[in-house]
Amino acid sequence: MRDLRNSVVVITGASSGIGRAAAFAFAERGSRVVLAARRAEALADLARDCRKLGGEALAVPTDVTDASAVEALASAAYHAYGRIDVWINNAGTGVFGPYQDAPLDLHHRTIAVNLLGGMYGAYAALPHFLRQGRGTLITNISLGGWAPAPFAAAYTASKFGLRGFTASLRQELRRHRDIHVCSVFPAMVDTPGLDHGANVSGRTIDTGPLVYAPEDVAETFVHLARHPHDEVAVGWPARAAQVAYALAPGPTEHLMGIAIHSALDRANPAPRTHGALRAPLGDTPRASGGWRARKGVPSARPLSVAGAALVGGAALLALGWRARTSSREYPQGR
Ligand code: NDP
Repeated sequence: MRDLRNSVVVITGASSGIGRAAAFAFAERGSRVVLAARRAEALADLARDCRKLGGEALAVPTDVTDASAVEALASAAYHAYGRIDVWINNAGTGVFGPYQDAPLDLHHRTIAVNLLGGMYGAYAALPHFLRQGRGTLITNISLGGWAPAPFAAAYTASKFGLRGFTASLRQELRRHRDIHVCSVFPAMVDTPGLDHGANVSGRTIDTGPLVYAPEDVAETFVHLARHPHDEVAVGWPARAAQVAYALAPGPTEHLMGIAIHSALDRANPAPRTHGALRAPLGDTPRASGGWRARKGVPSARPLSVAGAALVGGAALLALGWRARTSSREYPQGR
């Protein structure tokens, strides 16, 4: 599907951050966007803004943890426009902090929104794709689906789960050559997402210096709608994490553990918050979280040399690590 004009694109988590940027990106290309999230008013305003860009737009308030609501979202898209060309599973959230310190319902909610929400999306979209003989399912996973992030255990579980789910589905559908299952793995992105997640660490959270724009991910979705690929990284840190974890899972986990523990040790105290997990916040809907402006980060891309260095370092560490673990596994005398 090279020309996106009049294509029907369903986007979950459209009210904020990456989903909002994606709504604009597809509307600019003349797509008919079907916008889903919990906040009805934010979606109605967004639909108006998308129409001004030249696209058609339909707002369908939806909680993705409710399978029947996701089914109703698919039906609304079909009844309005007669088909579904692209379905983007993007709604997501998380809990940051020691696993045992967060109320269990927040972990449950993280799994329900990220993993089950994505599974319900696929369940609702696939019958349309199969009937049409074509369609593209795009799931926004995360660097966290390739390498585990400490103090984000439920988030990591949900994103590892989504990676397995989409990989399995892709092979299941392999005989349908015009049905595609694409998985997207962004590095850190400048969105309001950190404020919307829960933070029980008692410390401020920071994106770090390598922050991508929500529009970078949105353009990746647009590219995938035109040229589907199985798995795509957004930003070199995501690719580096993938390669490092594949080459050397032990050292990569170890390094991530050291990095995040030491960042937490240095972070300022902050109140504990449950973010928007139980109910949406009343903040002004926007795509950017303002991180790049505050940090004066123009673009994270020029640092790709550092990415190569990280991968190389992980490979070297892997060799050392393997040498150590194999001597432990086969002690003297064997
Ligand atoms: P935002 O918080 O800005 O956006 C999250 C969106 O999900 C909002 O539109 C929110 O809308 C919606 N949402 C949350 N809960 C539900 C629910 N129960 N039902 C329906 N919609 C819901 O965060 P981001 O844009 O950063 O996150 C978007 C996706 O990108 C997530 O899957 C995230 O894991 C992933 N990602 C983000 C990265 C980052 O650094 N920001 C990096 C890698 C991946 P509402 O509150 O109105 O329901």
